[in-house]
Amino acid sequence: MSSDRDRQNPVAAAPVDRYARARNRMVETLIDRGIRDEKVLDVMRRIPRHEFVPEPFTDKAYGDHALAIGSEQTISQPYMVALMTSLCELTPESRVLEIGSGSGYQTAVAAALARYVYGIERIADLAREAMNRLRKLKITNATIKCFDGTIGWSEHAPYDAIIVAAGGPVVPEPLVKQLGVGGRLVVPVGTEKSQTLIRVTRTERGTVEEDFGGCIFVKLIGRYGFEK
Ligand code: SAH
Repeated sequence: MSSDRDRQNPVAAAPVDRYARARNRMVETLIDRGIRDEKVLDVMRRIPRHEFVPEPFTDKAYGDHALAIGSEQTISQPYMVALMTSLCELTPESRVLEIGSGSGYQTAVAAALARYVYGIERIADLAREAMNRLRKLKITNATIKCFDGTIGWSEHAPYDAIIVAAGGPVVPEPLVKQLGVGGRLVVPVGTEKSQTLIRVTRTERGTVEEDFGGCIFVKLIGRYGFEK
């Protein structure tokens, strides 16, 4: 029997391809590293990560590390994708804003768990390539546009979750404003060299901030990020 989710996102039918074993091993590594969210693990077992990296790297796609995707940017390490997605606590009703879509892999993972993902990527070539990958995989509940994501995307606010996949000096204020009550914003904050993963939850009265440890992301560049 197929669920609504399977119909909405064909990626949910686990592909048997030459990378299926590598994908299972990647997920075993995530479990060893402490990821417990079964829904996230299940989705990462299904989404063909090798489709999100440039050709020369396809054989490296399932290692637990970041990889170059061009324009001096990287596809995030699988562990970080898993951790950030778990912290977002997505449900089939969630409307998600993603800043720094890059390859589109995190977009695809979130789209498999949420109602809709609005992705923003500041580099036009990456945004276009990521959108092509989503189309090829028939992921129809996500879109990626090219602009400065630090200002958010007010048109579709409020969001249930906001994921920022690049590290900035502060929590961008417009993003906090675009969270609905109960909404979660997951964002790396720190210097250009290292950051702390922060989750900001919006409550009736204000916000609650939690710290999930050190991390290293590429720079968040924009009005509420680094200058360049
Ligand atoms: N989740 C992506 C991560 C890509 S790296 C993946 O796994 O492929 C982070 C991305 O953030 C880069 O592509 C970079 O261009 C983008 N970025 C940096 N600052 C941004 C901003 N202000 N708005 C939108 N994208 C931004």
